[in-house]
Amino acid sequence: MTISASTSTSVSMGVRDITLAFGANQVLRGVNLDVPRGTTTCVIGPSGSGKSTLLRTINRLIEPDHGDVLLDGRSVLGDNPDQLRQRVGMVFQQFNLFPHMSVLRNVTLALRRIRKIPEDQAAALARHELDRVGLAAKAEARPAQLSGGQQQRVAIARALALQPQVMLFDEATSALDPELVKGVLSLMADLSAGGMTMLVVTHEMGFAREVADRVAFMDHGVVLEAAPPEAIFEAPEHPRLRQFLSQVF
Ligand code: ADP
Ligand code: MG
Repeated sequence: MTISASTSTSVSMGVRDITLAFGANQVLRGVNLDVPRGTTTCVIGPSGSGKSTLLRTINRLIEPDHGDVLLDGRSVLGDNPDQLRQRVGMVFQQFNLFPHMSVLRNVTLALRRIRKIPEDQAAALARHELDRVGLAAKAEARPAQLSGGQQQRVAIARALALQPQVMLFDEATSALDPELVKGVLSLMADLSAGGMTMLVVTHEMGFAREVADRVAFMDHGVVLEAAPPEAIFEAPEHPRLRQFLSQVF
């Protein structure tokens, strides 16, 4: 299955010299990245290297001290954060679904609140997205009645319902039981094959190797090396990357 349709509007994304400090802790020290339209970049790197913080600055959950984010070549740092988050979908390690709402309502909420889409129309769109992630039958269920993998697929459907131009994933499978990881990764691979522009922070080196067009290695708040997966995994140049890979494999 390839997920396309609403991904036809995906755009390129650029990150330009982003810096950010939390107090004395310089977490991002000049991050640069280019994700061409319709391609997937995986970000790998040790814990604490600033991967989550980078995604949060792209999505305007935190303001960087310096630098810029470009969508389709245009700076978005001056844009309204809510409008930006329609264009840039984000999926977290913890699915962040509202436990007291049905699956359907979890997906329609942003459509109604942010896009101001009327209830019946939002429900139709949401059912379409749930169908795309294979969960149409679970629309009336509560999140707690679903497996972790199903909950994460709902979170992905919720993001896709806003018809984003770029998708960010922050360790989307790290909280899942091992047998549930594959379903979520294959959904992400379908989305990538369908032409979505994606930036994916992951520890799943198999996914990075097979699905990513490029892999970026982050360490201490900078991208030390970015290249196609074959180069990163077969011929890593930077000593820190070699050391990281030797610990992973
Ligand atoms: P990674 O995702 O690569 O593991 P993070 O981006 O989560 O790394 O964290 C990078 C650094 O920023 C860590 O030292 C972390 O403690 C710090 N950090 C992250 N978020 C905050 C915050 N909200 N306030 C203060 N420090 C933070
Ligand atoms: Mg993280």
